[in-house]
Amino acid sequence: MSERGPMDAPVEGAPLAGAGFAPEAAFLDCVHCGLCHSACPTYVELGTEADSPRGRIHLMHALQDGTLPLDAAAVQHLDLCLGCRGCETACPSGVHYGALIEAARPWIEERYRRPVTTRLRRGLALTILPYPRRLRLALAPLHFLERLGVLAVARTLLRQLPARWRYRASLLPDPLPAPAAVPLETPARGVERTCVQLLVGCVMPELFGDTVRSTLEVLARNGCRILAPADQVCCGALSLHAGDRATAVRLACANVDAFEPRAAGPAIPLVVNASGCGAMMKEYAALLADEPAHAERAARLAARVEDATELLVRLPLAAPRAAAPARRVAYHDPCHLAHAQGVRQPPRALLASLPGVTLVSMADEDLCCGSAGHYNVMHPDLAARLAARKVEAMRASAVDVIATANAGCALQLEAGLRAAGVALRVRHVLDLLADAYRG
Ligand code: SF4
Ligand code: SF4
Repeated sequence: MSERGPMDAPVEGAPLAGAGFAPEAAFLDCVHCGLCHSACPTYVELGTEADSPRGRIHLMHALQDGTLPLDAAAVQHLDLCLGCRGCETACPSGVHYGALIEAARPWIEERYRRPVTTRLRRGLALTILPYPRRLRLALAPLHFLERLGVLAVARTLLRQLPARWRYRASLLPDPLPAPAAVPLETPARGVERTCVQLLVGCVMPELFGDTVRSTLEVLARNGCRILAPADQVCCGALSLHAGDRATAVRLACANVDAFEPRAAGPAIPLVVNASGCGAMMKEYAALLADEPAHAERAARLAARVEDATELLVRLPLAAPRAAAPARRVAYHDPCHLAHAQGVRQPPRALLASLPGVTLVSMADEDLCCGSAGHYNVMHPDLAARLAARKVEAMRASAVDVIATANAGCALQLEAGLRAAGVALRVRHVLDLLADAYRG
């Protein structure tokens, strides 16, 4: 580990060890077999033990024991973890890596002062992204420039930049979709088959308005009456993954109140179309276990959460009948859908049911693309390398369309493709379904 620098010293007076963040047994579950290494995107890319799941577990254990100082190198190895949980899927010993890293991050935040530029970037992201009104304000000038045609010119110029900067510039959706307004209630089209609640989310309606509109349309066409409670807020995942557990708990409590059914009756599904949010809400019971006013209701809410693809397969899907040109489609697994929620087949089943679609396999389908919440903003260099790895797999699959079930992954994959100059479209499964219904 490297020496500590003046800008990244532990907070003055804070102990290096002190109260632990995880029970000792949680570390001892790891038998150091290394079977998780090939499933870890940072290990695959960097090849260093400290950037592997086993290395990070060892590192967190040593930090908790106080046998390793909390210095810049230790924090960097843990910061570079995407929280993708690919290692959990691969681990034969059932190590709950996600719970370990989520417990370690707030512990680090309390004890470690980051360089000022990192603090500024994190602060800006966490002050804006989870709050849709602030995000809308921040994006307003870009929408204005888009309307004037200035962004299109800027994008053309940015494509001439060296690859490192091309990727960063490509992270802005092209074109910037109009924000989505989600009504409090959307009626079913035709016969009502069920009533559902919908998590609108924080970033989704502002940055991925098209996918939100597709979600409403596809659910309604499948006989769902959709309720979007007005008081709902960000699920808290962005805050939790950045180590701000207190904010995550506050947001989760607000959602437990907002989604509380107003009348007695059978439990209705709470549908989510972003995999990180779905994974977070399915784990609200653990997050709010120490909140007496919310713990029980959080467990009931968590039991109702379903990814939109799970619900559509369960209904089952009203098959689109329109003829469509033959297309070869490959599917990229969002980490928080495949690894955190264990949802792999429903999106594939939906895609395979679409007229004209032949679903083909692709290398590394469930390896993280580098999106991971705001990871690609905090660690753009490594995120760009991970995106470039995916681009090679997408190119080799020789498909017409790449599908995924998470808008953040779609944005990241498209950024990688644009930076590499590869003309291939990435679409959310719900957008492809909506296209099929529209004929
Ligand atoms: S969560 Fe992902 S990036 Fe982090 S150690 Fe596990 S596999 Fe590697
Ligand atoms: S996390 Fe699991 S797979 Fe990885 S080294 Fe430990 S026991 Fe083996």
